[in-house]
Amino acid sequence: MDSKIKSTNGILILENETPEDVAKAMIKSGQQKEPFYVFDMDEAYRRIQYFKKTLPRIQIFYAMKANDNERMIKLAATLGMGFDCASPGEINKILNLNVSPLSIIFAVTSKSPYWMTYAQKSGVRHTTFDSSCELKKIKQYWSDARLLIRIKIDGESIYKLGEKFGCEFETEAIDLLEEAAALDLKVVGVAFHVGSGCFSIESHMIGLQRARALFDHEAKAGREMSIVDIGGGFLSDRTDSIDQVSKLINSTLEELFPDPNVQIIAEPGRYLCDSASSMYCSVNNVRKVTKGDETINMVYLNDGIFGSLKYNEPWHTVKLFERRAEIKNDTLEKTILWGPSCHSHDRIMQNVDIFLPQCTPFDWLVFPRRGAYALAFASYFSCLEKPLIRSVISQQLWKKIKDSEDFKSEEFVRTDISSPLPSTLPSLTNKTTNIRPNYTLII
Ligand code: PLP
Repeated sequence: MDSKIKSTNGILILENETPEDVAKAMIKSGQQKEPFYVFDMDEAYRRIQYFKKTLPRIQIFYAMKANDNERMIKLAATLGMGFDCASPGEINKILNLNVSPLSIIFAVTSKSPYWMTYAQKSGVRHTTFDSSCELKKIKQYWSDARLLIRIKIDGESIYKLGEKFGCEFETEAIDLLEEAAALDLKVVGVAFHVGSGCFSIESHMIGLQRARALFDHEAKAGREMSIVDIGGGFLSDRTDSIDQVSKLINSTLEELFPDPNVQIIAEPGRYLCDSASSMYCSVNNVRKVTKGDETINMVYLNDGIFGSLKYNEPWHTVKLFERRAEIKNDTLEKTILWGPSCHSHDRIMQNVDIFLPQCTPFDWLVFPRRGAYALAFASYFSCLEKPLIRSVISQQLWKKIKDSEDFKSEEFVRTDISSPLPSTLPSLTNKTTNIRPNYTLII
């Protein structure tokens, strides 16, 4: 990279530009070669505020697994959120922000002894369980934990979680509560998750009804519970969805849990972070193939399913963002998008018919709304690097958060908006000594 070009990973303060303008400027500069994300901190902020406004009774414990980008978790911490952590690594990341361990729920129902002692030593108190086996392990390794029984609620979701997690409400929950009591373990609440990307608005209501029944059972037995965890699952693509679901949740809470001393928490992931990030990547190569009487453009990109484009949800789209060649024809053509690795499965949005204008090398595509479960899944397969993130923020929001503990030492920049992100290409190695006598290729 041209050393005169200032590349920075600080947070870029916007004046009148949009996050898209920033991406365009970076690409037009010709200096940004590798795939990248633009993280719009204002959009994440708006999502958090909207969630708080529509669900005022509920405290957010951000499910950081959806997007553990440092700026996202710092923003959540600055705005007073708690965190749903699902591994010691996540706990560690949050505690390093000086967040109290009591602001963490270790929301995993199957934990190794090591995970339990790690959480306990870190000062985390709350976790979930859904089996007798887990209760016995908790008794042995984390007997002072505060437990939430996770019940299965399977909504109409893109990712149903019920096969893997949650005990059966009808046949298992009461026995587990009795077993916990017999083991002298403290069950303080009920947790459920309706599945990630949930379309059925009544699922949370069913969860709350079942939670109420378990609260009543415990009260009858002289044991008091005080927390309901309604999990995540909120759709991120339409605001009417959270509007509808929140109405039902609010009225059900009023009816079933009117006591303000019962703490109601949620673990939204996707809803808070998805719309705040878009992904930009460029075309490495193009081939035309003929299948029957169909011609298909095979377009090879510099990010793929082993990078940050593994999953595609029904609302995902892709668009040609910036042409690098003079092509006037914008007719849409059938296109297959391939990632950069040598693996034959590295096909992006495999189950979707994609139609794009004819692409040529160095064109850029945009994958909008890729903030949740995208970069979080990226691997280093084949020594490919993960895309970097350009974080952008408005002057107004920057003023609000700049003196907070999380952001006061951050480098905020108002430089040329086109400046590229630091290169992730490995530095060159030119070894000339001690070269080994292995097979070599004929020159
Ligand atoms: N909580 C738990 C226990 C989860 O397993 C998940 C996702 O798998 C979430 C919260 C976040 O769900 P979502 O991103 O759908 O809101």
